[in-house]
Amino acid sequence: MNESFQAIVARKNDEGRVIGALKTVSPADLGEDGVLVEVAYSTLNYKDGLAVCGKGICRKTPLICGIDLAGTVAESADPRWQVGDRVLVNGFGLSEVHGGGYTQFQRVNPDFLVAVPEAYSLEQAMAIGTAGYTAMLCVLAIQDHGVKPGDGDILVTGAAGGVGSIAVTLLSRAGYNVTVSTGRPEEKPYFESLGATGIITRDELQRDGKPLEKETWAAVVDSVGSKTLATAIAQTRYEGIVAACGLAAGPDLPATVLPFILRGVTLRGIDSVQASIERRIRAWEALAGSLAPDDLAGVYSVEPLAKVPELARDILAGKIRGRIVIDVNA
Ligand code: NDP
Repeated sequence: MNESFQAIVARKNDEGRVIGALKTVSPADLGEDGVLVEVAYSTLNYKDGLAVCGKGICRKTPLICGIDLAGTVAESADPRWQVGDRVLVNGFGLSEVHGGGYTQFQRVNPDFLVAVPEAYSLEQAMAIGTAGYTAMLCVLAIQDHGVKPGDGDILVTGAAGGVGSIAVTLLSRAGYNVTVSTGRPEEKPYFESLGATGIITRDELQRDGKPLEKETWAAVVDSVGSKTLATAIAQTRYEGIVAACGLAAGPDLPATVLPFILRGVTLRGIDSVQASIERRIRAWEALAGSLAPDDLAGVYSVEPLAKVPELARDILAGKIRGRIVIDVNA
């Protein structure tokens, strides 16, 4: 391991806010426990924006930010992981209570590691990242519910974002008809390139809705929450399912129970952070089986570690389209 290396570290600033900034870190800062990973890439998720901008994600300081990482095992005392293995981590408290992926080296609890599917390079694995793995958890919930292509349209909200973009891609590749809801209708060519067949504007859902509206969606992937989620539930068809994973518009849910008790609608919560290792492996195997590396090409760009603070502000402002991979060595 190098003498010292670069990382985005959250510390308290003079105003008492915990902000992430580029710092030089030494190997001793990583502690001694866990598998040592030489990190190649991390990513930028909405939660990373919150963490780096001091919005209450990091629960201790100093702490290396970044909820995702992909790299190569550099040291391991755990028989499950050998030097040279390609590994990734999504969530599991990285950037909250454990050091995260915005660094060139990190020590990780071996229980948190998932082998990178052979189909993907480390860069491509991070193009998927937490956003894509969460999108797959949503798609699996919809498929486990029994919704098939041909049962009706699937709605994806917050579609230009990371979770939304990968969800549209996965669902369209699986043969579903996908309608996107977005605040960026000018991105129509992008949504069509992902495979969407319909587009509605954000305002059509983010309003005071009725308890029950016209049955429209066989299933929904919602990364927005608040009124958008409430309207989507009210428009879900009889015995349909809504996979709720996000809160880009807020954590509230101004809905009634009528869609549940009169239409048998299922509201399925999706959590990626503490999902079991079995669920993670299932999701990553499903991703490798359904999302070809070429499908990712138009969805992401690669940015250097030093740009993370600026990008963190941008993702909170809704200015990022698709996925951002962070090259920690650039
Ligand atoms: P992004 O910022 O990439 O995407 C969010 C999208 O939501 C934006 O691109 C935008 O899409 C839409 N949006 C943003 N602000 C608003 C607003 N005020 N009102 C309505 N729509 C808005 O974030 P991610 O894809 O990384 O994450 C999406 C959400 O999912 C976040 O809330 C995140 O915390 C959550 N999440 C949850 C996980 C879990 O385990 N449950 C895991 C990963 C993410 P458009 O411009 O198309 O409208």
